[in-house]
Amino acid sequence: MIIAVLLAGGSGRRMGGPEPKQFIEIAGRTILEHSIRAFHQHEGIERIVIVSHADYIDRVKEIARPYTKVTDVVAGGKERYDSTLNALKTASAGDKLLIHDSVRPLVSQRIITDCLAALDNYNAVDVAIPCTDTIIEVNNEGHICRIPMRSTLRNVQTPQCFAYETILRAYEIGLNDPGFVTTDDCGVVHRYLPDEPIFVVQGDTTNIKITYPADLILANSILGEQKQ
Ligand code: C5P
Repeated sequence: MIIAVLLAGGSGRRMGGPEPKQFIEIAGRTILEHSIRAFHQHEGIERIVIVSHADYIDRVKEIARPYTKVTDVVAGGKERYDSTLNALKTASAGDKLLIHDSVRPLVSQRIITDCLAALDNYNAVDVAIPCTDTIIEVNNEGHICRIPMRSTLRNVQTPQCFAYETILRAYEIGLNDPGFVTTDDCGVVHRYLPDEPIFVVQGDTTNIKITYPADLILANSILGEQKQ
């Protein structure tokens, strides 16, 4: 089975609104529904699993009702990786998973196609675009301690895609590490299965993660245009 996992378990505190950002409406639909539609309309996706904040499961089920590929709505966890782990419980050996931030409603059909093609040859796939800003690393005093060469840097997007056995094994090892900490799933594979190559699919500048109010302006204008 090829499964899209939509992570919607966050509370979206940085947006500052009364409810999680995946429920904000853009061009007549919630951000979550735009993400569901992107994967639902792709012929390579067989199932969709949505991870919801526990308080919003009924709401998510209501939004997902028209989309027949949605088979499971499961509760999220405290951290993003807890939500990934809950989604993994709905999968089994031989499955391939495309794990996507539900707050990236502008993911293109081309990115999904390229991820599926890459999964034919790799057990782990990331999506990224070249960095346009110079990135600095700072120390505890707030002073620059390192300036990595920009040409080698990428901004990571989603989906991040895996063979089921690979992501499960990486988490099994990682969760036994007392110093385990991560912000994304490829990071877990990279750290705990260092011999596993992670292929990088070209992302898109429009595949933004809606985080701050200003991101809504861009998403509104792109999705509004697509509707016409
Ligand atoms: O917090 P961040 O912006 O990294 O969240 C990325 C995605 O992960 C969002 O779609 C959010 O709903 C999801 N998430 C989750 N469970 C958490 C935290 C975040 O599913 N505990």
